[in-house]
Amino acid sequence: MKELELYIHIPFCIQKCRYCDFLSGPADDASKYRYTKALIREIESLPEGRESIITTVFFGGGTPSVLPGEWTARILETLKKRFSFAADAEITTEANPGTVDKEKLRIWRESGINRISFGCQSSFHEELQMLGRIHTWEDFLESYALARESGFDNINIDLMSGLPGQKLKTWETTLHRAAELKPEHISAYSLIVEEGTPFASMNLDLPDEDTERMMYSRTREILAGYGYGRYEISNYALQGRECRHNIGYWIRTPYIGLGLGASSLFGSTRFTNTADMKEYLRNSAHPDRLRRNIEHLEKKDEIEETMFLGLRLARGIDKRRFEKTFGKTVREIYAPVLDKYIDLGLLKETEEAVFLTEDGISVSNAVMAEFLLDSY
Ligand code: SF4
Repeated sequence: MKELELYIHIPFCIQKCRYCDFLSGPADDASKYRYTKALIREIESLPEGRESIITTVFFGGGTPSVLPGEWTARILETLKKRFSFAADAEITTEANPGTVDKEKLRIWRESGINRISFGCQSSFHEELQMLGRIHTWEDFLESYALARESGFDNINIDLMSGLPGQKLKTWETTLHRAAELKPEHISAYSLIVEEGTPFASMNLDLPDEDTERMMYSRTREILAGYGYGRYEISNYALQGRECRHNIGYWIRTPYIGLGLGASSLFGSTRFTNTADMKEYLRNSAHPDRLRRNIEHLEKKDEIEETMFLGLRLARGIDKRRFEKTFGKTVREIYAPVLDKYIDLGLLKETEEAVFLTEDGISVSNAVMAEFLLDSY
């Protein structure tokens, strides 16, 4: 059976963070309930995936943990009725500190959720306030401890560098404080100021480029000291605890996104659900009516995507898998680009793989851009 990943979008948050451009916002309980029912209708009506085996599920948002535990369990139960699940499927939910309690965590565990990704971002009160987060570091510590007590043995902590006013020292302290808790996984992204967010219209005192670069290289060094390997540009894990769902995206495992604005890659087609809530609620029993931006990928697009996404991974592009998928070797298609960047020390090629070197990672966007194909 073919592997398939599922993404479930929960577009609700207690309040909007100042940097956030995700499809999410506050809502009352009645709206959340209507949405959950619509989501269940979409799952039950989905035409795809009957021949596939579900290897990962990811509840993202928004803040999925704002839903009552029973509703999340009901969504998962519907998924399990509708799809065949692998016995060891990785089932993650994102959660924000302060939105979980013992009872919710118990229900999650019993429903089959086996991984939690906490949005923490910083260990400093002033930084969290400036970001518009709803929680303190102490709230995070409490939620993290509760999750551990409830038996969760696979936890990610999301952190954010490059914040306004942030110094290298404070970033390093946040990394140490998080790593000392021994989560299985740490995601460390740098802030991007997105258009249309409150941050975009503020005069922010952002760290300069050199400090940002230092923050990036110190992240790797500090986390390596605690046993975390960098397996993707911004993701670190203890051995064997890499996020299988995200790796799936980077190696182009098919995935279906359910819920408002969720994206899918199925067969050679990409599509996105409507971002209009009224439309979603009206049409969720007819998934075909929800779909927008339907894009049928040519072989050329798939090759390019394989290179862009695969080069984000430390292990790089699996040469054998590439040849099996496209009927040609990476070298047959990309020899001049490979040779150019191997000579510059930015790429490395072994018997099994092609991957970015440390120097290559720091200029990854420029290197990846050269893997665009004029024609195929
Ligand atoms: S909690 Fe996450 S999704 Fe919600 S507003 Fe903040 S950053 Fe955005």
